[in-house]
Amino acid sequence: MKKNIPVASPDIGSKEAIKVFNTVKSGWISMGSIVRQFEKNICKFTGAKYAVAMNNGTSTLDALLTIFNIKNNDEVIVPSMNYISSANVVMYKKAKLKLCDVSYKTLNVDYNELIKKISKKTKLIIVTDLKGLPVDYDKISKLCKLKKIPIISDSAESFGSEYKKKKIGTQLLAHSFSLFANKNITTGEGGLITTNNNKIYKKLLIIRNQGQTKRYNHVMLGNNYRMTDVQATIGIEQLKKINLILKNKNKIASYYSSKLINIKGLKIPELPEYVTQHGWYNYTIRVDPKIRDKLIKHLSKNGIETRVSFPPVHIQPYYKKIFKFKKNQFPTSFKSYREIIDLPIWSNLKRKDLDYIILKIKSFFK
Ligand SMILES: *Cc1c(COP(=O)(O)O)cnc(C)c1O
Repeated sequence: MKKNIPVASPDIGSKEAIKVFNTVKSGWISMGSIVRQFEKNICKFTGAKYAVAMNNGTSTLDALLTIFNIKNNDEVIVPSMNYISSANVVMYKKAKLKLCDVSYKTLNVDYNELIKKISKKTKLIIVTDLKGLPVDYDKISKLCKLKKIPIISDSAESFGSEYKKKKIGTQLLAHSFSLFANKNITTGEGGLITTNNNKIYKKLLIIRNQGQTKRYNHVMLGNNYRMTDVQATIGIEQLKKINLILKNKNKIASYYSSKLINIKGLKIPELPEYVTQHGWYNYTIRVDPKIRDKLIKHLSKNGIETRVSFPPVHIQPYYKKIFKFKKNQFPTSFKSYREIIDLPIWSNLKRKDLDYIILKIKSFFK
């Protein structure tokens, strides 16, 4: 029988299903006490003072832009090697998107490029922990403090990762997480913001609920970004598994690296010292762009799904058209994009499937 190994698969099953059954039977399915409990548990795990759950990760980014009052022609800096949502939320606010190239080693925002991009008009910087690998937060925070520019993190992919022995979620003023099905923990669709700032927290609660402070009293422009108790029920169960998920993913990543390290023409991921725990949202290898697509095809033919995430923002048709970007305008993003392949990694990926994937990669290079 032909193998069919997905690139990601949620660690979800009977435990979540039973609890969802109970929630539905309770008759209360929209936002209520279970969302609040989920938020409390998230605080405990991340070490953040406050957590706000929302309907998806993009909503959390949009809500944060509202917090920082981002509007027409305010400059917002966003990494070019990124998922589309941080760029999209800037466009929705009619603000000025300023893309910044990434570092070849980490695929996260490049420090020296960032310095060049900052101007008097810069109102906000968004960094991204791409592939679950934390940004060098101390270094970038220092720069932003010096320049007096607020900075937030799109930590959609780094739930459970650690920067200098601390869980991601408290390094900056606010961190945004996604709970989409392929993330480290999931509620199907869902998002979270963690912050230690009481003012931001209180305002987020209002923004999440149509700018409402009490029933039908709308003091500011908000939206419906509420999470449901059904989603939060799944979230609470997922959070109980996070340490196991992280342990399993770390084992898989180490196994990949130990077996792939000696293949000539293939680069395994490297971790900077400040990453004391990688959440391994993705396990990403790099090969010569000349063979990249051939390797993807070879694996696909053998029933192994891979991804190329992400094509940089500046080559996305919508953005290319508006900004007239050249392909090589953000050279490291573009070069990296042409080299990367995300291999299957998920909590319950079996050792024999892992061996099979490794075998197929090795046979390609023979
Ligand atoms: C998944 C993801 C998001 C957005 O999350 P949604 O929940 O799908 O809206 C944002 N940024 C990055 C880097 C992501 O990987």
